[in-house]
Amino acid sequence: MKCICPECKNQIDLTKYPNLKVKYVIECNTCGMTLEVVSIESEEVKTEIVDEGK
Ligand SMILES: [Zn+2]
Repeated sequence: MKCICPECKNQIDLTKYPNLKVKYVIECNTCGMTLEVVSIESEEVKTEIVDEGK
């Protein structure tokens, strides 16, 4: 599986998240952005940025 950060476009290291599921919150190891998993397809994890300012 791979996951591209929507903020910095770098690939996120998913080895820290072996049981990744939709709704899980992960952190980009490059830019530190907090991301919520919105869907998991066969080879790609899609995320959206969690707005922490609210
Ligand atoms: Zn990032």
